[in-house]
Amino acid sequence: MFKVNEDYLKLPGSYLFSTIAKKVSAFTEANPDKKIIRLGIGDVTQPLCPAVINALHSAVDEMASADTFKGYAPDLGYEFLRETIRDKVFKPLGAQVEADEIFISDGAKSDSGNIQEIFSRDTKVAVCDPVYPVYVDTNVMGGRTGTYDAATGLWSNVIYMPCTADNDFVASLPTEVPDLIYLCFPNNPTGASITKARLQEWVDYANEHKAVIVYDAAYEAYISEEGVPHSIYECEGARTCAIEIRSFSKNAGFTGTRLGYTVVPKEIKTDDGVMLRDLWARRHGTKFNGAPYIIQKAGEAVFSEEGQKQTGEQIAYYMKNAAYIKNGLAEAGYSVYGGVNAPYIWLKTPDNMTSWEFFDFLLENANVVGTPGSGFGPSGEGYFRLTAFGSYENTVEAINRIKAL
Ligand SMILES: *Cc1c(COP(=O)(O)O)cnc(C)c1O
Repeated sequence: MFKVNEDYLKLPGSYLFSTIAKKVSAFTEANPDKKIIRLGIGDVTQPLCPAVINALHSAVDEMASADTFKGYAPDLGYEFLRETIRDKVFKPLGAQVEADEIFISDGAKSDSGNIQEIFSRDTKVAVCDPVYPVYVDTNVMGGRTGTYDAATGLWSNVIYMPCTADNDFVASLPTEVPDLIYLCFPNNPTGASITKARLQEWVDYANEHKAVIVYDAAYEAYISEEGVPHSIYECEGARTCAIEIRSFSKNAGFTGTRLGYTVVPKEIKTDDGVMLRDLWARRHGTKFNGAPYIIQKAGEAVFSEEGQKQTGEQIAYYMKNAAYIKNGLAEAGYSVYGGVNAPYIWLKTPDNMTSWEFFDFLLENANVVGTPGSGFGPSGEGYFRLTAFGSYENTVEAINRIKAL
């Protein structure tokens, strides 16, 4: 009789989004005449921009001719894309990243979930709380998180770093030393960003303790303020301790087409000289057969002049929504965070409501759907996430309804 991987059985069910769906459909059934507005969307809604669509069309045409047809992509991804990323993303930041340290993938979810495989089973993991759920769940699958306490929602062998209004939603350095640290800035769900000076403290800490930082920069393109780093490699010493994960999903609308990449610098080595870069290359070559040629061409087009202009307009559209949400809620007396360098607004629930109480309150009284902060971790209790990915018209209507409550 087969046996399953017992580590998978430890995973708690995906309570958050299924509970939201159930509550919303029960409400709609009881109130069929009410127009629900969803500000819980974690997906882009603007179509792919013309520069990307044109690149897709011509890449498809290349596939139709024997002279230009492409089969398997190279293991690391096409050189044209890796060199463009090196030159257009990292060079302007003064960050040293080589083309053979860039691994093209089908997105940041897989990379941020798979990266734990190259670390030992007894690796001690630290995560921010609240957090994007992939980091912890994949370490559960990797068998290194200990036991789960359903009452607190915490794993016994994970170091949680609370992010609340008291620390501007940027975790303080942990007292117990981890081996692997997950950081995500600008942050989902809190919308917080980190200053370069504070990120430098993390890099120094990781180097001092020989820990590795996995830096999820999926929302880098939303940064609007000076002094907020676009890449961890802007910090001195990051090449010996930091892996950076990037995505084309939120900056260019590739959530459905799929494209991302991970940077693993050659300078991250064990005391015996084993390079993490080589282990990741081995994994990539064994378990992944490349992002499609046409999608890599589309990714290259994002960095063209038109591509930058057009994707910049999409980001500006979402950030106009973010500003409307943030300002509107602030006027209505809410404590609101994020929404400046990220498409997420994180608000304190009023009158000490729990996150779920506020969810019900908003659904019933404003017919607006958001995401309870407690669903992202215990420190998210008493907070609530709204996203800027809806249409401007719906966003305005939703916020005006909340202001009228
Ligand atoms: C959306 C998101 C991703 C996923 O990106 P894909 O490239 O679409 O897989 C990764 N990290 C965070 C924090 C995200 O919010």
